[in-house]
Amino acid sequence: MKKRPLETRVYKYKNKNRNFFCPLCRTERNVQVSPKLTKKNVRQISLTSLMLGGLLFPVVGVESFCVFFLVWGAFELAVRSDYKKQVPCPHCGFDATWYKRDVKVARQKVAEFWAQKQVANPSVSEAATKQA
Ligand SMILES: [Zn+2]
Repeated sequence: MKKRPLETRVYKYKNKNRNFFCPLCRTERNVQVSPKLTKKNVRQISLTSLMLGGLLFPVVGVESFCVFFLVWGAFELAVRSDYKKQVPCPHCGFDATWYKRDVKVARQKVAEFWAQKQVANPSVSEAATKQA
């Protein structure tokens, strides 16, 4: 009986995400299809705004429930930035959204990714220059 929630979670996870192989480094990637709020997010938004609204109610009255829109906006931003963060490949910096729009920018992003890696880990840059 304890296995049940785990199975449904895996099922949902597979449905919500898209699996593909990074065209640059061939790592298997798993990316959420769209930056939309999930039902869980909506529940969190409602609960958070109810709590905040309840807290602010004695101070500002009925208008306190306007925090709902603030909370909603904050969640939208968080979900979108999460989505953007997961698009570039964590192994080679390849960004599929940029590749569709502008290949040159996508290439530059990969170059920047490796430049940053070299700054973070100088020993890697030494090895790379020796190879080159
Ligand atoms: Zn990659």
